[in-house]
Amino acid sequence: MKSKLQWSDLRARYDAVSAIIPVMNGAKSHIARLPVAAALMSVLFGFWPVLLTYTITLGDYTLEQLWEPLGLVMVVNLSLWWLLWRLYKDAAKASLIVSILSLANFFYLPLSELLSIAARLVLVELSSAAVLIVYLLVLAFIIYIVHNGKVGFRSLSAPISFSSVVLPALASMAVLCMVNVFTIAAFESKETRQAQELLANQFKINQELKITGKTEKPDVYYVIIDGFANSSTLKDILGYDNSAFIDYLKSKGFYVALRSCSNHDRTTLSVTSSLNMNYMTPLAEKLGADSRDSNVSLKLLRENSVMKLFKQAGYRIVNVCSGFTATDFIRQADVNFRSGWGTGFNTALLHLTLIGAFEPYLHLVENEYANVRLAPIRRAAEIAGLTGPKFVLIHCLLTHPPLIFDSEGRTLPLTRQLLSAPYVKEPYVGQLKFTEKKLKELLDVLCVDEKAIVILQGDHGSSCTDWHQEKQFTLERMRILNAYKLPQRLEQKLTQTITPVNSFRLVFRELFGADLPPLKDESFIAIPPEEPYRFRPVTKILGDSWK
Ligand SMILES: [Zn+2]
Repeated sequence: MKSKLQWSDLRARYDAVSAIIPVMNGAKSHIARLPVAAALMSVLFGFWPVLLTYTITLGDYTLEQLWEPLGLVMVVNLSLWWLLWRLYKDAAKASLIVSILSLANFFYLPLSELLSIAARLVLVELSSAAVLIVYLLVLAFIIYIVHNGKVGFRSLSAPISFSSVVLPALASMAVLCMVNVFTIAAFESKETRQAQELLANQFKINQELKITGKTEKPDVYYVIIDGFANSSTLKDILGYDNSAFIDYLKSKGFYVALRSCSNHDRTTLSVTSSLNMNYMTPLAEKLGADSRDSNVSLKLLRENSVMKLFKQAGYRIVNVCSGFTATDFIRQADVNFRSGWGTGFNTALLHLTLIGAFEPYLHLVENEYANVRLAPIRRAAEIAGLTGPKFVLIHCLLTHPPLIFDSEGRTLPLTRQLLSAPYVKEPYVGQLKFTEKKLKELLDVLCVDEKAIVILQGDHGSSCTDWHQEKQFTLERMRILNAYKLPQRLEQKLTQTITPVNSFRLVFRELFGADLPPLKDESFIAIPPEEPYRFRPVTKILGDSWK
């Protein structure tokens, strides 16, 4: 007759076998194996939430952004595990505590939501501070149980050992991590292939630049102020007359194209378009008009032709890290000029965590947002002092939500509402006024070099108007600030209606004799905005708005 096999029997057998192995293999192996497995478990319990967050938001961030949090988690979890191991003299218990803390930290946001919902079911409305306290109490209780050396409750409890905890937890976590790694790898390879095909076919720019010993190579600064609307929009739609700032630009030698529009309606297409000197309309065919993928266009942005051609011309490429995924790190740049820890992925990750729950008291993300956004201005002299000739991309998010500055530059508390808030008229105008002050400081430094080329551009306008008001939304979103400080002979070729797709065509044509004729200035918008590849031509509506 078959006897019923119990989990406890299996474990007892495993422990018995484990006890024999050291005798068979020499006493060293069992003693050595447990700490290694326990350490690995501590690390994988840190890796998994990071990988899972990346997988859930696949396409929003880049692989380069993944290494930093993984590295940090590894160092923190291993250090904590080692300390607890020394304290308890029990590697398995130490790894279990580290793993619990790691999960409790990374899953704070969803778990605290569940806690709030559960409280609401018994008609108790918990404030966020109360949720945090309850969460910490539950966590402390769980740690207390583990501290006592057991897992589970009463009759279901078992002593913490290699076989009861480390082995099954390690195996499950290894599988979960591998699932995420394969998902990310498959996605990355598909998207990279699509981007490479587009680069090889639709966006290929092969140029023989005519460069001699006499060719002038001025430093070139491309300053993108994300979401800086056109003066007409500011005056007519948002009630702010910024002619003083336009006058300042003119006094600094800028040509201001007052009737300029963006070619595309969002950063991932607009900056990609200007840096590739082409329209992004082929993406609709490649990805499908229904696609919402922004990852391929972000790859095209980072692989852009403008940087390649400047490199070919002997320039040094500098990317000033923006805190936004698209321009946080550009591999082809010679220098990624970084001013803090706040990459797009790092800040998003921190928001999910238990540490993020202390944001109202610690202001970590708030201060970092302010730090990264102001870095190009604060460090302008260092940037200008980098060895040239150089092409510098400064993608500045000072006029982009979350609108964390008031008109005097005081930071506002970065609440969850503010974090997800779109463009709103008064705060946007307030932050834009502050941005103008800061831009003057930046340009005062960059323009010390009279020969330097400076292109100052909004990649698109604001969108305080609801998109259902299609015409006004189109005008607000597509009309931009666009100003050029160029050598006289280049400035003569500018027009009031030049669009970003033609900025660098002009520069390469006139500076290095490239065969890059101007394209027809056109603009495309997506309405509703959720479908980015339904390119609706709006050149005429925009053209009529100036009359
Ligand atoms: Zn943008």
